[in-house]
Amino acid sequence: MKTLNERTLKHSPAPGGQSALWSRREASVSRALYHYTRIFADRAKGAVLWDTQGKRYLDFAGGIGTLNVGHCHPRVVAAIKEQAERFLHTCFHVAPYEGYVRVCEHLTKVAPGNFPKKAVLLSTGAEAVENAVKIARRYTGREGIVAFNLSFHGRTLMALTLTGKEKPYRDGFGPYAPEVYHSPYPYPYRTPAGVSADKAGAYALERLNELFEVKVDPKRVAAMIVEPVLGEGGFVVPTPDFLPGLRKLCDRHGIVLIFDEVQTGFGRTGTMFAGEHAGVVPDLMTVAKSLGGGLPLSGVVGKAKIMDAVSPGGLGGTYGGNPLACAAALAVFEIFEEENLLKRAQAIGRLIEKRFKAWERRFDFVGEARGLGAMQALELVAEPKTKAPLPEDIMRSILDQCADRGLIILKAGLYNNVLRSLAPLVASDQEVEEGLDILESVLSGLRVKANNGHRSSSVKR
Ligand code: PMP
Repeated sequence: MKTLNERTLKHSPAPGGQSALWSRREASVSRALYHYTRIFADRAKGAVLWDTQGKRYLDFAGGIGTLNVGHCHPRVVAAIKEQAERFLHTCFHVAPYEGYVRVCEHLTKVAPGNFPKKAVLLSTGAEAVENAVKIARRYTGREGIVAFNLSFHGRTLMALTLTGKEKPYRDGFGPYAPEVYHSPYPYPYRTPAGVSADKAGAYALERLNELFEVKVDPKRVAAMIVEPVLGEGGFVVPTPDFLPGLRKLCDRHGIVLIFDEVQTGFGRTGTMFAGEHAGVVPDLMTVAKSLGGGLPLSGVVGKAKIMDAVSPGGLGGTYGGNPLACAAALAVFEIFEEENLLKRAQAIGRLIEKRFKAWERRFDFVGEARGLGAMQALELVAEPKTKAPLPEDIMRSILDQCADRGLIILKAGLYNNVLRSLAPLVASDQEVEEGLDILESVLSGLRVKANNGHRSSSVKR
């Protein structure tokens, strides 16, 4: 059987004039790197990206949710330039700088929780996850870590071990780190037989209690790590009882609750952090992506007494909290205030949700439109009754057709059958509508033929 990459790399031709670049990419870059599009970027601004042929695209991917303040926000660019003139790197362990401290001050201020907080800065989301696990283990003196099915936490060994999807992330990379336990995440659209959508959270909490009975004594568990809304897992929003249920369990057993807000954070869901919707305060939180406005910056922020459990020298790294990335992040914090991006995220979310819900009614193959704030998705199915996922080749063709017509959009989910929007929060209504019009034109032309008993026709009458 061909691997995902073999099939997808060869699927569609590169946009006009870019095939030479594509050949060079194939000749010199490992095939292990997947591509959502075959667009070679030339420049980008706000919610728009241009390829090397000057073709314009609405960017509803935002570097996989990294550009909530948009491409090349002038304040971010100015801050980076200004910092670049002063110094590029000293290593925080060698000669600390104020930018790092200021980012931590901001993080401790915006992170939920009415208690003293501290933070540490790193470069990638995976590193933030690794460090959160280290901190929780050191604080509790315990080893076990609970993570959830369908989660994505990164590609380093511990983050990969925590990730709850086998292919393609974990496939062939074992052995994984020990003492990691997985439990189901509530998936209201795809509950096990006999469990209704509104009981998805209760079911998941029951399974977690069962895990504690049969697999690991909760007294041995250092931390639970959870995405408040699944990102790569397909923008699955848990039922409202789930996160409070986790909080209770963690409190009862002395377990550190970690929210991975790498994809959901910085306004994506209409609040600064997605956990705020459930009113649940985690002990630690991992942040990355949109924090750096396009530069690599991540962090762990949380209860000071937990963060300080690690002895000096126990955490850090050469590049963590790089001065340029810190300067960019400080600009990001200003932009959120000045441009009221949380309000904007809510407005963009409403705009997208309205259209997505209409498509859910109109197209048979839209199994579910769901999301939180500007984190909106469509789960596509071959047949609404069985919920059989729309096959990979059709998903690929949707993405390709969108790109052809000038829209960059991503898929996600266990079966890669979820279209997700991560449009920058600085996108205008007009840009959002323009992107949605392109998507609608592609979906309207989609014919899912009943050729194997699993696929049905596309348009609801
Ligand atoms: N956690 C979550 C929730 C993510 O979505 C991602 C990236 N998609 C990561 C961790 C890993 O981040 P990075 O790719 O920066 O290591």
